[in-house]
Amino acid sequence: MKAHDGMYIGGAWRPAAGRDRIEVVNPADETVIGAVPAGTAEDVDAAVRAARAAFPGWAATAPAERAALIGALRDVLAARKGEIAETITAELGSPLGFAEMVHVGAPLAVASSYAELAASYSFEERLGNSTVLLEPIGVVGAITPWNYPLHQVVAKVAPALAAGCTLVLKPAEDTPLTAQLFAEAVHEAGIPAGVFNLVTGTGPVAGQALAAHEGVDLVSFTGSTAVGRQIGATAGAAIKRVALELGGKSANVILPGADLAKAVSAGVGHVMNNTGQSCNALTRMLVHRDQYEEAVSLAAAAVATYPTGDPTDPATRLGPVINAKQHERVRGYIAKGVEEGARLVAGGAEAPYERGYFVAPTVFADVTPDMTIAQEEIFGPVLSILAYEDEEDALRIANGTVYGLGGAVWAADDETAVAFARRMDTGQVDINGGRFNVLAPFGGYKQSGVGRELGPHGLTEYLQTKSLQF
Ligand code: NAD
Repeated sequence: MKAHDGMYIGGAWRPAAGRDRIEVVNPADETVIGAVPAGTAEDVDAAVRAARAAFPGWAATAPAERAALIGALRDVLAARKGEIAETITAELGSPLGFAEMVHVGAPLAVASSYAELAASYSFEERLGNSTVLLEPIGVVGAITPWNYPLHQVVAKVAPALAAGCTLVLKPAEDTPLTAQLFAEAVHEAGIPAGVFNLVTGTGPVAGQALAAHEGVDLVSFTGSTAVGRQIGATAGAAIKRVALELGGKSANVILPGADLAKAVSAGVGHVMNNTGQSCNALTRMLVHRDQYEEAVSLAAAAVATYPTGDPTDPATRLGPVINAKQHERVRGYIAKGVEEGARLVAGGAEAPYERGYFVAPTVFADVTPDMTIAQEEIFGPVLSILAYEDEEDALRIANGTVYGLGGAVWAADDETAVAFARRMDTGQVDINGGRFNVLAPFGGYKQSGVGRELGPHGLTEYLQTKSLQF
């Protein structure tokens, strides 16, 4: 794994404007595994100029050709799958098997979907006496988080390229090595110079400069609600398009008649995968009062099948959380849960190892909807189980947070689950264990965000319309 010294701008690795660097730390053992340049406003400006210069050419490239280049990018990523997974394991702490299957597998599927969509999408439609042209919005400023280092990047870059946009990416401070590998792949795939540019750096410096740059036409941000709010305000003041994928506190509603054992075990898995660091993680499990204690025992048993430890060990299912700050924060939430009267049935605030940012897989019972752990996003391996009296009560609890990103409903049949899902204020709902679909729009209701990613809906975020009347 080698870290580049420069920024990928205009089709080449160029020295950074400043000398500051960001150290990359392996969260499993706290060792420094590399360093990347901390970009400044000057680097961002150079990258935006390169993207702007490349825009007319890329926008005019035939969709079939753009599709072929996205396909080529997918093929390079697939060929370098092992190296990417190892990098993600090293900088994020993801167990290697999960890194291969999900962290690399999902973006490969997303890239494939956009290679197909770019070729088949109709960038023109006829409405009465008008022809509506769907044109690329221009230069995109993409700002991504660390929790899915490759997927978050591909979920923005692939649709932007398909639409005919050019980009500047500012990846998260904690996982820049994966982003550098991605830039190498873009280069190797033969995507024209300036179409994709990478500036590593901190949020408040490089991220802020990118979000505020007047040469950026659309800011696509994934991250925390607090930063999203700030970026939304900056974009609003500049009358600039913005897409925000923010936090979540998703409910896993288990209705009477559902297969309880299956629902609990899948629900626990959904939280523990990626060490609870998925924005749509089903962190609130809602169970009918009559089945409550049975569900709690099943969850305690299920969580015991998630051994914590070295992410390169094939037996490990739960890696560390990303960094020292999150380590403190997540364990602080666990302490808060105990303090507010929830019943700890597995795990706890104590770190299981001296080295590494590990958190024991934790399950709380007797959680009430008003508790901090039932309201705020923890972003760690912590599950809260809440009891409900009847369906109306379950719905009130499920909808009773400021978020609305994901969700799940389990019932005796799909029809019953769908009837409940229709009343949920959330962007995605898995019905009786329905699987993640890379074509389905992903995004939030309420404070979970603005806009949608993935599939054809995700593509339209990067397009603007022009009507020609005849
Ligand atoms: P974060 O908001 O701190 O950082 C996200 C990105 O924004 C990083 O690249 C960071 O450098 C940058 N950033 C930080 N401050 C900035 C500023 N002032 N201006 C511009 N850019 C700035 O979030 P995080 O800690 O990296 O990620 C965790 C959060 O992201 C969680 O709340 C999680 O739910 C959310 N998230 C949401 C989704 C989704 O799709 N909805 C996906 C993943 C993560």
